[in-house]
Amino acid sequence: MVARLVIVSNRIALPGSRQAGGLVVAVKAALRGRPGVWCGWSGRVTEGDPIAPEIIEGKKVSYVALDLASADYQEYYNGFANSVLWPILHYRTDLAEYSRADLSGYIRVNSYFAAQVSRVLAPDDVVWVHDYHLMRLARELRAGGRENPIGFFLHIPCPPPDILLALPQHAETIGALACFDLVGFQTDNDAANFGKYLELRGAAPRGANVFEIDGRRVHIGTFPVGIAANIYARAARTAAQSPFIRELRDSLAGRKLLLGVDRLDYSKGIVHRMQAFDQFLDDAPDWRSKVTFLQITPKSREDAHGYKEMEATVTGLIGQINGRFGEAAWTPIRYVNRSHSRKTLAGVYRCAHAALVTPLRDGMNLVAKEYVAAQDEADPGVLVLSQFAGAATQLQGALIVNPHEREGMAQAIRRALEMPQDERIARHGGMLRSVIEHDIDRWASDFLTRLSEARQKWSLLGGLRQMLSGLGAEERDSGKKTA
Ligand code: UDP
Repeated sequence: MVARLVIVSNRIALPGSRQAGGLVVAVKAALRGRPGVWCGWSGRVTEGDPIAPEIIEGKKVSYVALDLASADYQEYYNGFANSVLWPILHYRTDLAEYSRADLSGYIRVNSYFAAQVSRVLAPDDVVWVHDYHLMRLARELRAGGRENPIGFFLHIPCPPPDILLALPQHAETIGALACFDLVGFQTDNDAANFGKYLELRGAAPRGANVFEIDGRRVHIGTFPVGIAANIYARAARTAAQSPFIRELRDSLAGRKLLLGVDRLDYSKGIVHRMQAFDQFLDDAPDWRSKVTFLQITPKSREDAHGYKEMEATVTGLIGQINGRFGEAAWTPIRYVNRSHSRKTLAGVYRCAHAALVTPLRDGMNLVAKEYVAAQDEADPGVLVLSQFAGAATQLQGALIVNPHEREGMAQAIRRALEMPQDERIARHGGMLRSVIEHDIDRWASDFLTRLSEARQKWSLLGGLRQMLSGLGAEERDSGKKTA
């Protein structure tokens, strides 16, 4: 019988729900073709203590949907996860708002999740925990006596130890990752940063990317998350014919379309991008009124620290740029807070002449890969990509920019809009091959294969240690006899 895969993530997408973020797509890929359980927060917040989890038995996959009490939501989710871990792991120690109450909420919810996972866990299940909300899960499960293979994947960046050490009580969170058998990262840089952190904490290297600490071995590895590239490309071809996209095209009246798609988050560099567009319009009067910048930005985490202020800055800046350069028949920036379906978005990508994906820091950035997959191969658009997105390690055919350098980004916008077709085709071809080769199914199977290898090595080592300690005992016994 195939072992079940038990996925644990902060949010869960129940069958039939329209939730479709990057993590949801990734988890669905991991569960495809395997019997499994998906355990996570339902999205509901209760006034009193949460009632028993809702368990939904599917054909192959079962769901364990947990509610959060309002104090949990505040301390664990808005507090520690999104106002401490998120900024610090994105190199923004200045934005972190730490409190002991929030950390204790985080510990409490991790322990609650672990207890609920434990209830459904069979001895041969494989557990895969996702993202920064649940870094203590293996420690809690091990404390409860669970010895299943447990892997962890960090979807967001891992900064160097100097920054990790600024996280108060980091041993309780980052340090707890050492209880997993395998910890996966988006880039080699992230993995190396975690390795250095472990060594600072006294872990002993045991071969390439393996460390021993507190009597356990933790393997670390790089698994760049991908997308369902072929499916996405098909969806884009179909969506490009939809009435929505036809209307969008008509509304451009022959102008070129620049596109930005990001959650409203300070890590995405939206303010820097707008400033660069402002600079571009200043530097390139010949392009005024010939290009429209569409920025699609669904709001997110409005209750977490720093988001409302950032929103006010973005809207203020866009208003200024539109006021300064706009004309009666042309608005330079169209700013849309509405979330679009994945299908619609695929069509929008396909008709954009260039995409500006310029985060200040991003684990991977799936929008960059989706944009590449959605292009018409014979007449593709140009990707302008931040050197600080994990995707930059893979998408070398993009125009790579430093989002902190306004003039450089302004030049890249111009170059993207004016790039000859043969150069666009050449750059896009390489990126498309890479996106197809490293797709989401490969990401899931690479991780799970590595997890099972890590466990086999650990079991072998355990057996060897037991044998050696048995031999030692025998020698001691025979020594006693001959003495
Ligand atoms: N997305 C969407 N509708 C929108 C905007 C974004 O479905 O209106 C999706 C987008 O297609 C991508 C994901 O949200 O798959 C964003 O993932 P990314 O890695 O770029 O950033 P994250 O939001 O996870 O930090």
